[in-house]
Amino acid sequence: MSNNALSSRDLAVVWHPCTQMKDHESLPMIPIRRGEGVWLEDFEGHRYLDAISSWWVNLFGHAHPYINACLQEQLSQLEHVILAGFTHEPVVALSERLVKLAPPGLTRCFYADNGSSAVEVALKMSYHFFRNQGQTQKTRFVCLQNSYHGETLGALAVGDVALYKETYQPLLMQSITVPGPDCFDREPGESCAEVALRRFEAMEQVLATQAEQICAVIIEPLVQCAGGMRMYDPIYLTRLRKACDRYNIHLIADEIAVGFGRTGSLFACEQAAMTPDYLCLSKGLTGGYLPLSVVMTTEAIFAAFYDEYQKLTAFLHSHSYTGNPLACRAALATLDLFAQTDVLGHNRHLAQVMGEALRDLQDHPHVAEVRQTGMIAAVELVKDKARKIPYPWQERRGLRIYRHALQRGALLRPLGAVSYLMPPYIITPEQIHWLADILREGITLATAD
Ligand code: PMP
Repeated sequence: MSNNALSSRDLAVVWHPCTQMKDHESLPMIPIRRGEGVWLEDFEGHRYLDAISSWWVNLFGHAHPYINACLQEQLSQLEHVILAGFTHEPVVALSERLVKLAPPGLTRCFYADNGSSAVEVALKMSYHFFRNQGQTQKTRFVCLQNSYHGETLGALAVGDVALYKETYQPLLMQSITVPGPDCFDREPGESCAEVALRRFEAMEQVLATQAEQICAVIIEPLVQCAGGMRMYDPIYLTRLRKACDRYNIHLIADEIAVGFGRTGSLFACEQAAMTPDYLCLSKGLTGGYLPLSVVMTTEAIFAAFYDEYQKLTAFLHSHSYTGNPLACRAALATLDLFAQTDVLGHNRHLAQVMGEALRDLQDHPHVAEVRQTGMIAAVELVKDKARKIPYPWQERRGLRIYRHALQRGALLRPLGAVSYLMPPYIITPEQIHWLADILREGITLATAD
């Protein structure tokens, strides 16, 4: 099998996600034969360093021997069973461990099989909670500008990335979108905490005036990832938690991308010392092996659904593969790896290396900002640095960096004009420096005209 042979077969039958398929008339498709550690290898022996953890899912590298062994053992026991009326050891053990690890008070685990579905679950559960309490007028959700929570219709409705949302607008429920705490928007001399506090006033205003209608606020703690790796100060989360309590509104923390050590703590909410009413987890939950997601919530919320069947208060949401045993086992193996070594301590070192490796890019005339939160480091290109004027999106500058990186052997899929490193935690300092060099070359090429 050659690369070309598989690409041709692919292009005849596969419709790829998040892709204008016509791009593949000129953009190479990369057929991958195997993965090992940070590397992906094609059919001709070319290797690509997976610098974005395959859409942020992979934590400890591809084909990890320990996760593989755990999955093989699980395969010989039980591949899947319905989770309604039945249970199995991996889902029980995983729930017990997540309850121990998550911010205090999150004692109940409801499973789904991808991030968007977890967001749907949290939205429905919040609405349903208030309905069960007789507060049927609470039907609205608040989200932040530039937020992203997935691609299903409910999740899109609480997102704000025009590229994904605008087309489907007529199909979507109307959420309330408020200015976010994005530190990129700071005024000269303003700190990230100051911009967060300034922006919080708009949130406070909405909550104060519309609390009667609002079920929940949904946010991505600390980093708006699909929104271009925009980052903000934890003070916003602390304030938001207090305000939600004041106005009897739920707080949904979507840690699908930032959970499991990405931001420096196991969960990003920890940096604001707050417990959300719903914590959505997916992606890194299984170490990047299998689709699984979970919504963790409180005993009080669980209790609001617990009653005689005839009262019809139960949460009847379901997905066929809810709590799949193989996926749960991969998640348990991933948590074992966190327990076996000081992953967060090691990441602190790697994060420092990432920061140092990218630091000089800050001085580049077309780099608006180099920003970093833990194991996420992003470089944003602009046309006019002084006025932060972006390049016209049609120019697809980030894509030029992507192409260059592929030629050099790195997978650096951008988000528009934002290129970023979000690597597996087993990357070495040398590999980080090598990626930074590739990024530097790519930026020079991408901004040459
Ligand atoms: N929320 C966030 C913060 C995400 O980054 C993503 C995926 N990029 C999702 C939700 C949706 O997850 P999935 O792609 O598994 O549906």
